Amino acid sequence: MIASAEKLIDNRTNSVLAGLEPAIFFKFFEELSAIPRGSFNEKQVSDHIAVFARKRGLEVCQDDIWNLLIKKPGTPGYEDAPTLILHGHTDIVCESDEGVEHDFLNEGIKLRVEGDFIHGTGTTLGADNTVGVAFAMALLASDDIPHPPLEVVLTVQEEVGKGGAQHFDGSKLTGKRLLDMNWHDPKSLFAGCAGDISARLKIPLKWTDRADGQTGAVLRVSGLSSGHSEFDIHLERANAIAVLGRLLRLAMREAGVSVAKVSGGVNRYVIPGEAEAQISVDVSRLAALKAAIKAEGKAIAAEYSTSDPGLKISLTEADIEARSVFAPEVAKAMVNAMNLLPNGVQSRSLIVDGLVESSNTVALISNDQDRIEIVSTIPSAVSSRRYNIVDRIRELSEVIGLGATVETFADCPEWPYNPDSRMLAAGLAAYYNEFGEKPHVEVSHSSLELGLFRKKVPGIDMLSIGPEAFDVHTTRERLNHSTVDSTWRLLKALLSELRT
Ligand SMILES: [Zn+2]
Repeated sequence: MIASAEKLIDNRTNSVLAGLEPAIFFKFFEELSAIPRGSFNEKQVSDHIAVFARKRGLEVCQDDIWNLLIKKPGTPGYEDAPTLILHGHTDIVCESDEGVEHDFLNEGIKLRVEGDFIHGTGTTLGADNTVGVAFAMALLASDDIPHPPLEVVLTVQEEVGKGGAQHFDGSKLTGKRLLDMNWHDPKSLFAGCAGDISARLKIPLKWTDRADGQTGAVLRVSGLSSGHSEFDIHLERANAIAVLGRLLRLAMREAGVSVAKVSGGVNRYVIPGEAEAQISVDVSRLAALKAAIKAEGKAIAAEYSTSDPGLKISLTEADIEARSVFAPEVAKAMVNAMNLLPNGVQSRSLIVDGLVESSNTVALISNDQDRIEIVSTIPSAVSSRRYNIVDRIRELSEVIGLGATVETFADCPEWPYNPDSRMLAAGLAAYYNEFGEKPHVEVSHSSLELGLFRKKVPGIDMLSIGPEAFDVHTTRERLNHSTVDSTWRLLKALLSELRT
């Protein structure tokens, strides 16, 4: 089937992926991997693909942030088939191992093949989502694969808040069917995801002088299992900010401590594994505080012994240097918020077994001179439930008073599972015809940019497929190259199913 496409393959004398099948896919995968393309640095790769498409006489539309839309007519017999949107994203996550110096702005990924897997060399591989872009290019380059009219949409900034999809002009699309190629399991079809929104609670900060006769200390929660706030939330892991809130409540009650600084969490999509507060306490009450924290710490460690066996709570005397501390009413409001913000699983799906429907992760806490900020990320498959959680956070800010406010950002709609989807039916038929068995159908509690296409193209019907990849977004990211061929077969079978 790919004989003529193979003519396109250059003489790749230095190719790392030569010999892997389908050759046309791995040619484009390798070509793309050589181009630096972290989020916000997609111009070069976008231009590269635009030139590639124009050379083939295809209609190309590149917007001002380098999103691409490429149109290719249907092949003979498919000219009047419903248009299919093919979707992938051009940006990759740029992470490197400690000690590895990699200039992601100017250097591509150095590919390495080990057994069944392709890896980066001390860096992320970027299979997420070079895979989708390479499949799209392979189809655009082909002249012997039957397919409906195609609208290939390659977005930018997916990895940093879905900025490309937010910006993309959906009115340029005529298709009502979309096939995404950013899934990572060749034995399943992906058919729905949650939407999400983030909420920032801001408490204005007032300061007061530190009392005489006090010593400084750091109260620290660490060693938690952490994890992705959407993929791992069902595991009921401890949240370091919530645990710190419990300990601060106790410390204020038992020893009248003041707070000088607070911090916790790494980003909006990670369950915080560490959090700490710099506190100030009367020297005379330090021993009692240590005993109380030790006892409470033991109880909390027992609660989380299964989910977070590494949980550590410490109180260390330290010179905290602060001359002033949070005014007591502000510290109390902050601790109330840490303990009362919705946290973890809020509801589970009654339609899809085991699926979390709504959750909240209190992901970040910090303060500067002017305010304390606590950021929550709230995924839900049901938008009214997502906004209800936001409203509860707003009510909490009203109860707190002291001028506390809530602002929301990064609102992304859900893609609800639809058992009657034509795309899903076509995917199931194509999979069965190709492999003689039924695939799993997966839906996820994570929020993907596909939710945004539902808003841009009313009535759109979507499905996602992809080969096996592990540990994406980390330097352990790897692509099982032997599963690419089965995804390619599924893709071609699906395209012929979509004639009607
Ligand atoms: Zn990603």
